[in-house]
Amino acid sequence: MRLALSRFFGKELAMDLGTANTLIFVPGQGVVLNEPSVVALDAEHKTVLAVGAEAKEFLGRTPRRIRAVRPLKDGVIADFDVTQKMVSFFIAKCLKRKSIFRPRMAICVPTGITQVEKRAVIEAANQAGVTQVRLIEEPMAAAIGANLPINEPMGNMVVDIGGGTSEMAIITLSAIAYSESLRVAGDAMNSAIQRYFQDQFQLLVGENMAERVKMAIGSALPLAQPLAIDVPGKDMINGTPRPIRVTDSHIREALFEPVQMIVNSIYKALEKTPPELAGDIVNNGILMAGGGSLLKGFDTLVHKVTGLKVVVDDDPLTTVVRGTGRTLEEPVKFGDVYIN
Ligand code: ADP
Ligand code: MG
Repeated sequence: MRLALSRFFGKELAMDLGTANTLIFVPGQGVVLNEPSVVALDAEHKTVLAVGAEAKEFLGRTPRRIRAVRPLKDGVIADFDVTQKMVSFFIAKCLKRKSIFRPRMAICVPTGITQVEKRAVIEAANQAGVTQVRLIEEPMAAAIGANLPINEPMGNMVVDIGGGTSEMAIITLSAIAYSESLRVAGDAMNSAIQRYFQDQFQLLVGENMAERVKMAIGSALPLAQPLAIDVPGKDMINGTPRPIRVTDSHIREALFEPVQMIVNSIYKALEKTPPELAGDIVNNGILMAGGGSLLKGFDTLVHKVTGLKVVVDDDPLTTVVRGTGRTLEEPVKFGDVYIN
């Protein structure tokens, strides 16, 4: 009934405003937008030249006139004006037909964000024409997206490895019982690869190239099949282009530190979990979500270190937005998960 009414009166949208990617979900339709959280601006006039996937291609290869920026940092808004422009652009893209009714939204935010940061998210949506904004914490949204029984008096652990942050949370009775946030995730892995190329091969590579190498051959544990890739880079000494061939073992070495930091932090979260909930987690295992959980062998490494069952959600890049969307689709069941 509510769904039918909302369709008639105006749209409801769920948004995952991530440091790396922004996704929008429409109840009844699924994920309708999935774009990098990047904006390309004219450096002088501050006008928007491109947003999303198109703007990401500008990163590291912009002429002086153009500035490509990622307006979110560590999960929160670092550049309000640019975030607001990006959010408006994405919302407009999803609402092709103009309605006299303004859209309502559920937006997920990192756990433990400040009042000021919450207000910034709401304000960005308001300025994009959204009247009513409900906020939900990301690990809660991930748990709902992965179908964990969050309403029950039982502990469940979620590990969400995104671009800027890795979040570990224990959820029970529709609330976050314990959470830990680490500013080491996918971005830190990319920088670690860039640093490794500099130190080992005196080679400069861009952020996007480092990310591509990570996705193609990066891993947390030795692979059954060795992998290699040719990486175009620039010689640090004489500045000329110089391609090199790197293997999965190089990249594993490059990623050792960030991967270790994330694993330690998962271990620490487990240590701090109250005993009753810890018992539940021994039974239920750990759910991994976020793009970083796609790093090859990461789930197996977490399993080895903790001894717990580890499951990576089916489509970990969309878990959070699907969960946020489900709270709109099933308002009775998920009505009390919002934090505002
Ligand atoms: P956020 O919620 O912060 O926007 P996401 O959950 O969208 O982050 O994850 C983005 C991160 O996941 C990026 O750092 C990206 O490089 C990383 N990522 C995506 N796919 C893979 C992959 N196959 N292997 C390793 N890392 C990946
Ligand atoms: Mg995320």
